[in-house]
Amino acid sequence: MMPLRRELPPTAGLPLSWRDLTGGGPARLARDAAGFLGVDELLLTCSGTAALVVALMTLKQTSPRRTVIIPGFTCPLVPIAIAQCGLRVQTCDLVPRGLDMDPVQLRHLCDADTLAVVPTHLAGRIADVAAARQAAAAVGAWVIEDAAQAFGARTPAGPVGTQGDFGLFSLAVGKGLTLYEGGLLHVRDATLRALAREVATLLLRPDWRQEMVRGLQLAGYAALYRPGLLALAYGDGVRRALRNQDPETAAGDRFGREIPLHAVGRWRQRVGSRALTRLAPFLADGRTRAARNAGRFAAVPGVAVFTDRPGDDGVWPSLLLRLPDRASRDRALDRLWGAGLGVSRLFVHDLAGYDFLRDIVAPAPCPQARMLADTSLSVGNSPWLTPADLDRITGILADAVA
Ligand SMILES: *Cc1c(COP(=O)(O)O)cnc(C)c1O
Repeated sequence: MMPLRRELPPTAGLPLSWRDLTGGGPARLARDAAGFLGVDELLLTCSGTAALVVALMTLKQTSPRRTVIIPGFTCPLVPIAIAQCGLRVQTCDLVPRGLDMDPVQLRHLCDADTLAVVPTHLAGRIADVAAARQAAAAVGAWVIEDAAQAFGARTPAGPVGTQGDFGLFSLAVGKGLTLYEGGLLHVRDATLRALAREVATLLLRPDWRQEMVRGLQLAGYAALYRPGLLALAYGDGVRRALRNQDPETAAGDRFGREIPLHAVGRWRQRVGSRALTRLAPFLADGRTRAARNAGRFAAVPGVAVFTDRPGDDGVWPSLLLRLPDRASRDRALDRLWGAGLGVSRLFVHDLAGYDFLRDIVAPAPCPQARMLADTSLSVGNSPWLTPADLDRITGILADAVA
């Protein structure tokens, strides 16, 4: 048998041990995760997207408003969820060279039909939730923090995901702590939280078929999430997609239109709870690594690394890099994407660029979101990235920019 090539993951997922998969104990992941963040209560959902659906369906019961404002560059599942709830998507462009929604445009977009604004903590970087709250408050809209990529990130004001009226986290594969698919929802207000709990109970019914599939996928993750085997579960598929000129599939951006809604079974909850006991030191190591690696990448003339504002303490599933223009970014990706080094793209397009979203996302011009999609790439912040890997990546970046 041919030995598999070494493959690094595109994001730093928390590896599972066999001990996580075995053994009993109560199934109470939502409680344990709430304890981890230091909040009263979290609702456990079958995905981050399902948590968004629960938040939106809850708000829909309280208001006739129908528009949800989201960044022009985010996960395609977000507009799909909004549409599935029968609501209207409005994209807001980003600030130049940043990840936040442009606060001026956001204020203009907010009106009497705005149900919610969704500031998004992309790539573990901490978004300006205060600006979103201000814009939303001015028109009586709610704030849903999309912290899908930022479970465990903190600001001086508290854990990320708790400053908005709702905060959602993803426990999908590749987002740190994982159940293969899972999510958590924080709701600030106790009355709204009670309503959200009811909505979640109605929408997320036990489904043993789904649970069996997810259980097998999670066991597969535990087995294959290591450099010696990850080509099998991840890298070979990326290379096949790139050969087929299908960057959306290579980046994991291609999603169906139906958001699965079901409960999370007891076994996966126990696995998550056991893994959660290792998350704090794992995130701390990731932060140290990210600081070191960011310095290396930022030392390449022309390459910028997205970091946090002073005082903020994000999480580091990957480092998001910006190159001077599309041509240099594409030159870098030609050699790095599919090379087994954990280099990928956060999202291939801005939301207006996905054909499969055409009937959901109005082609509003979001030039900065598009610029970000065209000039950025991500480097997985996994513990397996060696100094030699770093040298290779920085060398190729320097060539691409020169
Ligand atoms: C992954 C992601 C989601 C959806 O989370 P799932 O758990 O995959 O459903 C939502 N928003 C952002 C920004 C994401 O990265």
